[in-house]
Amino acid sequence: MKLILASNNDHKLVEFRQLGDELGFEIISQKEAGCFFEVDETGTTFEENAYLKAIAVTEASGLPAIADDSGLVVDALNGEPGIYSARYGPGHEAPASARNEYLLKKMENVPDDERSARFVCCICCTFPNGDVIRSRGECEGYILREPAGEGGFGYDPIFHPLCSDCGLAELSAEEKNAISHRGNALRKLRPLLEEYLNGINK
Ligand code: IMP
Repeated sequence: MKLILASNNDHKLVEFRQLGDELGFEIISQKEAGCFFEVDETGTTFEENAYLKAIAVTEASGLPAIADDSGLVVDALNGEPGIYSARYGPGHEAPASARNEYLLKKMENVPDDERSARFVCCICCTFPNGDVIRSRGECEGYILREPAGEGGFGYDPIFHPLCSDCGLAELSAEEKNAISHRGNALRKLRPLLEEYLNGINK
């Protein structure tokens, strides 16, 4: 099955394609589908923003679309940056390293046992007939004291997953997908999509 990824983020495209290959769906980029726009994330939750992105592409293309809204939720910062992860601190235009430095500075006096955080990913699939399928995945961990590793993107260098013995940016792409919030959300999505498609094809 083909799904248009409602995102202009090339890192996400790579991760969705890898996971799509593993899980059995073909991911086409928004640009390849002729949708040259950026959707305003005006929702107040990850779920709402994922829906807004997916439905915009389905409405523009007439095809099924998949979108995620994701981010880092830090307990000591009352859930920040949360849905504002992409535009936190120095903002969207700044490099990810500047947002990481900003977050680390805010966490400077937070003791080791209060640095818990999680990545959250909400995925939404929208279909031209109005049907919607959703899934949510998380990856629990804590905020490091300084960046580690060169892999991944965004906040990966300052996050240490609980289920790993190194930082997220120190893992290979396959290792990250196996434990990541996005991987977990996509693995939950697969049976839901299969059930939905079986229902349609009956
Ligand atoms: P959005 O879902 O495109 O609105 O943006 C999500 C933002 O959350 C990204 O720009 C990153 O800053 C952060 N983020 C989401 N997923 C990851 C990830 O897997 N690793 C690191 N940062 C992430």
